[in-house]
Amino acid sequence: MADHQAPSPAAWAPDSWKTKPIKQDVVYDDPAELSAVVERIASLPPLVSSAEIERLRAQLRDVAEGRAFLLQGGDCAESFDYCKEGAIEDKLKVLLQMSLVLVWGLRQPVVRIARMAGQYAKPRSSPFETVDGRQVMSYRGDNVNGIDPAQRRPDPQRLLAAYFHSAATVNCMRMVLGGGLADLHRPDAWDLGHVRKEAIRREYQGIVTRLTDALGFMDVVGATGQEAAVRTADVYTSHEALLLDYEQALTRPVAKAQPGARRGSAYEPSTPPRLRVAPELCDFYNMSAHFIWIGDRTRQLDGAHVEYFRGVRNPVGVKVGPTMDPAELVRALDILDPLEEPGRVTLITRYGAEKIAQFLPAHVEAVLATRHRPVWCCDPCHGNTTTAPSGHKTRSFDAIVAEISASIAIHRRLGSRLAGVHLELTGEHVTECTGGSQELSHRDLPSNYQTFCDPRLNYEQSLDIAFTIAKLYEA
Ligand code: PEP
Ligand code: MN
Repeated sequence: MADHQAPSPAAWAPDSWKTKPIKQDVVYDDPAELSAVVERIASLPPLVSSAEIERLRAQLRDVAEGRAFLLQGGDCAESFDYCKEGAIEDKLKVLLQMSLVLVWGLRQPVVRIARMAGQYAKPRSSPFETVDGRQVMSYRGDNVNGIDPAQRRPDPQRLLAAYFHSAATVNCMRMVLGGGLADLHRPDAWDLGHVRKEAIRREYQGIVTRLTDALGFMDVVGATGQEAAVRTADVYTSHEALLLDYEQALTRPVAKAQPGARRGSAYEPSTPPRLRVAPELCDFYNMSAHFIWIGDRTRQLDGAHVEYFRGVRNPVGVKVGPTMDPAELVRALDILDPLEEPGRVTLITRYGAEKIAQFLPAHVEAVLATRHRPVWCCDPCHGNTTTAPSGHKTRSFDAIVAEISASIAIHRRLGSRLAGVHLELTGEHVTECTGGSQELSHRDLPSNYQTFCDPRLNYEQSLDIAFTIAKLYEA
């Protein structure tokens, strides 16, 4: 394997995306105000470290090579209002519980990535919408404009607010996770009262009892190494890196290790920051999150987003749907993963339960014919969005499970492996998706429908998914 080399600095820079056509761009009334905000963000500290990003890179390599499984999940659109201790704790709790069920079912470590602490910007199918007979700009996420139709003008100050809300969220995550997983070792932290069918509840309860017994046993015998592994949890952060001005402002150089010099910050401690080493001796990290992905609407090979993504050391995701041609997928991997590093790219496939059999096999076969070894991850949410008779955007639990099980089967048949899932979920008891062991119907949707954007699996449905995946891998 060749040593890592950054792309030639002549060809890539944190701002080289500006020379390429861009989709889903936000146009601000006052470019000078935008520049001032971006400059301010560029002067603020990073939100995550290059060492953490490197650790995730190594773990995703394990996922790509079959030694671990990826669980990625969180809100479709985070709102600044979700930056509250309870909501953050609930989301971490459901992700951790799901991951324990998956560890149990798959007998493998699970790498956890939250769609959190920065998942603010949203691509939209139409730039405008009609509200009360008036045309207004679409809601583009809390870091662009407000959900209130009176606040739809893009406001650059929201980028700065996004930075501080991300910082507060990351800080709270670190605090909660630093406290460890101790609670989850108690069976009563697992609320299975929602499961309507007695046989399924007994089955889930059996798994939780065995799982918490095993964790308790490790506590008693003081199995230090393993105990440490189950007590402290890594949950990495991620978002769709859509607003490239913001992403660029948090893209920071780190000097590569040189003979006689340690790896470390590439900046002089000066204002404005000045590089103390040449850019070609640096790696560039997007320090706004550990993992970033390109959405299905912005993954044009010659576009600004692919240009930006190819130059950062972070592991990156690409959404892949029915409109991706297999040859185009291979080209995307050639650009984003020129060194053919397992796990550098995660392909997040999202076709819909009815279309996956038509599109996934050609994508898998095209990639297997190359030397790229991406993580194959199934997003069973975005291809399965429908509208309920009440007008609510929803998703059916059964369609979500159908896409995951088809994905597992297709990968197995072709000699590949589905190595992860990407879900829109929340730790709260919302009613946005139908089905699951609570048996929610279309009629239940209005009772607690909260989302600003796409419908999310609630706490109960998220646990149901974890139990279901664990069983699919046993099968
Ligand atoms: C999303 O993940 O919320 C999203 C917009 O997905 P996609 O890019 O796959 O449509
Ligand atoms: Mn979404």
